[in-house]
Amino acid sequence: MRNISLLGATGSIGRSTLDLVRRYPEAVRVVGLTAHTRVAALAEAITEFCPAVAAIADPTLLPELRERVGDAPTELVAGPEGVVQVATQAECDTVLAAIVGGAGLAPTLAAARAGKDIALANKEALVMAGDLFLRGMAAGGGRLIPVDSEHSAVYQCLRGCRIEDVRRIILTASGGPFHGRPEIDLAAVTRAQALNHPNWSMGEKITIDSATLMNKGLEVIEARYLFTGDHGAATIDVVIHPESIVHSVVELCDGQMLAQLGMPDMRGPIAYALTGPRRAADVMPRLDLTATPLHFTTPDLDRFPCLRLGFDALAGGGPLPCVLNGANETAVAAFLDNAIPFTAIPEVIEAVMAACTAPAPATLEEVLEIDRWARERASGEVTRKG
Ligand code: NAD
Ligand code: MG
Repeated sequence: MRNISLLGATGSIGRSTLDLVRRYPEAVRVVGLTAHTRVAALAEAITEFCPAVAAIADPTLLPELRERVGDAPTELVAGPEGVVQVATQAECDTVLAAIVGGAGLAPTLAAARAGKDIALANKEALVMAGDLFLRGMAAGGGRLIPVDSEHSAVYQCLRGCRIEDVRRIILTASGGPFHGRPEIDLAAVTRAQALNHPNWSMGEKITIDSATLMNKGLEVIEARYLFTGDHGAATIDVVIHPESIVHSVVELCDGQMLAQLGMPDMRGPIAYALTGPRRAADVMPRLDLTATPLHFTTPDLDRFPCLRLGFDALAGGGPLPCVLNGANETAVAAFLDNAIPFTAIPEVIEAVMAACTAPAPATLEEVLEIDRWARERASGEVTRKG
């Protein structure tokens, strides 16, 4: 039985997790919940799951939360400190980190340092502060388990392999709504077109990241911290796989490959992160291998420069992954506000990365300072382009 604090309970991953908790009460229990502003949905989840403690990140909404929850026994807290309290409370052994973006870093790192097992969906935390995060995990002694579907695939393939026998990790990418569509003028695509993902139903930020291929850029960095770490030998590649059935591939030194397949449904990797190596029964729809031909092609880095920027940030190291992430969050928010065109997203990020002269961050405060700088600088670029 896992006792989980679910950070980001009202989002796409959060709701899928609650669905699993409902269906497998013998395997997972909710002892903590957090949300940012969706106070009604958080109150409903508190009433249903009765966690020990719950936090609303926007403190102005605490009175409304209290009113909606009534006299339920859950302790209600607020603000970023409240989210940290939920992430580190004694009742919980596992944190499912499903806050979107840099806001997830501080509570997830606090949980890592407190010795919790971390089921990580919030890839931005690892991109911003990979070394610091891994040191936090080592100090706390908990396990870091990927939830991202590609990384869950690699994690599952690696069971039974020696890490030194891995030659290459191949992350698959759907390509989003625009890959392989040269007739589409990317400078003119609308918010609605970019949000129309062909295979996955996800939050808005990651859906735009999938359309620009920045999601894969972030995932290359995530894979580096999760799998190649000190061993270092494996390279990380990306292939476009429009069907999103093969979730990733591990190539071994003898030339053989292992892949993990399944329908595009995040409940699969979430359940595995919470119950593995045991498998819960009938988590997701079954895959008919005869129903879908599978295709693999090379990504187009000229048309989708965000993926190249991800590789650049990884190669450059130091503060660059954090800068990449902060500038991307600002640029994506600006695109969603109709303030810049789709093609300006990589331009903003590239300009901010080129301007960075900071040394590698060593502490959380230094990471957050670089993140603040990158967002401010990106806002300036957005204003110039808007
Ligand atoms: P979402 O936008 O649907 O939900 C985000 C959650 O984060 C919400 O519960 C929201 O309340 C919370 N949140 C947002 N800003 C916050 C803040 N400032 N402080 C505290 N909480 C805040 O996002 P999502 O699609 O569920 O994605 C969550 C994370 O999982 C992201 O890092 C994403 O990259 C990753 N992920 C998602 C999917 C997916 O299928 N949705 C797949 C792989 C990885
Ligand atoms: Mg993914």
